[in-house]
Amino acid sequence: MPISKTAAALATALSLATIAPASAIDDFFPEFGNEGIDVLHYDLALDVKVSPHVLTGRATLDIVALQQLSSFTLDLAGFDVLRVRINGTPAAFSRVGDKLEITPASPIQPQRRFKVVIVYRGEPTPIQDPTAPGDPDYLLGWFKYQTGTYALSEPVGASTFYPANDEPDDKATFRIAVTAERPLIGVANGAPQSIRAVSNNRREFVWEMDEPMTTWLATVHVNRYAVRQDVSATGIPLRLYTTNATPRADIAGYEAVKGMLEWMTAYVGPYPFDSYGQIVVDDPALYYALETQAMSTFPVGAAYQSIVTHELAHQWFGNSVSVKEWRDLWLAEGFATYFEVLFPHRYNTRAFEAEMQGLYNFAVRTNLGSAVVERGDQIFSNRTYVRGALTLFALRQTVGESVFKRIVRAWASQNVNGSVTSADFIDTAEAISGNPDVRPLLDAWIFQQPVPPLPGASAIAAADTATTATVPDIVGLACGGNNKRAHVVKCDVAATE
Ligand SMILES: [Zn+2]
Repeated sequence: MPISKTAAALATALSLATIAPASAIDDFFPEFGNEGIDVLHYDLALDVKVSPHVLTGRATLDIVALQQLSSFTLDLAGFDVLRVRINGTPAAFSRVGDKLEITPASPIQPQRRFKVVIVYRGEPTPIQDPTAPGDPDYLLGWFKYQTGTYALSEPVGASTFYPANDEPDDKATFRIAVTAERPLIGVANGAPQSIRAVSNNRREFVWEMDEPMTTWLATVHVNRYAVRQDVSATGIPLRLYTTNATPRADIAGYEAVKGMLEWMTAYVGPYPFDSYGQIVVDDPALYYALETQAMSTFPVGAAYQSIVTHELAHQWFGNSVSVKEWRDLWLAEGFATYFEVLFPHRYNTRAFEAEMQGLYNFAVRTNLGSAVVERGDQIFSNRTYVRGALTLFALRQTVGESVFKRIVRAWASQNVNGSVTSADFIDTAEAISGNPDVRPLLDAWIFQQPVPPLPGASAIAAADTATTATVPDIVGLACGGNNKRAHVVKCDVAATE
C-alpha cells in the first residue's frame, strides 16, 4: 500500500476503532490479511536446507499502525515461531491456525511506525489453493522437489515461507537474503545485490526489490542454476536461470524476451523495474508459469512466445499496476492476454483483429460472463482472461488504435507501483478519450453478464472471413475452467502451441 494512502486509511480505521484489528481485507479470501496494519518493507533472511527440508527465517517487517494495536496478526502457515521482538523489545505471541498473533508490551498508537522481528523454523509446506478448494493438485506457496525448492503464491500462499499481511492491496518493498549449501544458489525477485560465504559450504545470496510488490508476487528459488545474462536496448539487465533439465532448444524462446521488452517499452512506456529475470523450475509437478515480480517463473517446456510475452506484459499490468481486489484480476490477466495476442501480429493489424474476433466468437458461444467475477474460484476463469482481453479490444475498436494506446500508456504511468480497480480504469479511459461512449461500453463489458456487441465486428469479418472462425491458442484459454492449469501443460490448448 502506498504511504500516501495511510492517512485516508487511518481516518477510516479511527472511525472503526472498536473493531478488532485482524479484520478481513479481500472479500474472496477473508481469512487472509489484516487491515489494521500497513507493511512498508519486508527484510527476509531465509536459511534453506533442502535435505532434510528445513527453513529457518528471520523476518523484519517495517509496519505502520493504521489503528490502535493492542495486538495484531500476520499470516504464517506452519513453522515454530522461536521469538518475536517489536522495536527490540520481546513481544508475546500465539498461534491460531495460520495466524501469528503478536501482543506488544504496550498498545501501539495509530500512525506509529514500528519494526517487528520474527524468528521461525520448520519444514515449509504448501497450502490448499482456495481457487480450487478440495483439489489436491492445487497447492500454493513453497514447494520442495528433487534437489531444489521454489515458491509460487498466487493468490494467498505467501504465508508458507514468511509472515505476511497477505492481501493484495498492501504492497511493500523487499530484501530477500537466501542462504543455501554449495553448489546450490538462491534466487529471488529483482536483482542480485551480493553473494557471500557464511561458512565453508554455505553462501548467502541477497536480492532486493526496491519497487513495491504485493505479497503473492514474492518468490524464492534454490537449486543448481546456470545463469545467462544480457541487457535490453533500454539498459535493463536480463537474466535467465536454467537447470540441466531445461531443454537447450528452449533457451532461444526465453531469450526472445529481449525483443519483446523493447517492443512493450515502445508501446506501453518504461519497463517498471530495475531488472528482469526468467527462471525455469524443472519440477514435473509444476504446470503453469507465474509473473513473479521482475523474475518470472516457468515450468520446463514453457518457452513459447505466447507465455514469455504474457508473463513479461504482467510486469506492467498486474505487478507494477496491481489489483486492489481479486475480483478485478482481469486488469492483470486481460492485459497480459491482449498483449500475448497482439505481439505476434504487431505488424499485421488485420491478423490481430481476426484473432480477437475468434476470441469474441468463443465468448459468444460459451456465454462468457462479465470480466469482473463474483467468487474466489472464478479468478482464473476465461472471464478474467478472455473477456478481460476482449474488453480492451472493444475499447480499441471504439476509440481507435492511437487513442487506445494513449489510454494504455496513461494507465501504466499514472498507476506505476499502485493498486487499482475497474472503476479507476473506466475513469482513465473516459478522461483520456473524451468519448462519452466509453463509460457505458466499459460498464457493459466489465460488469454486465451478457456478451456485448463487438464494435466494428462487421468490418473485421468482411476483411477476413476465413480466419474469424478460428479461436487463437492463448495462454489461458478454455482448460477446465481454471486458467492456472491451462498455462502450460495438461491442457489441449498449450499442447498445440
Ligand atoms: Zn497471467
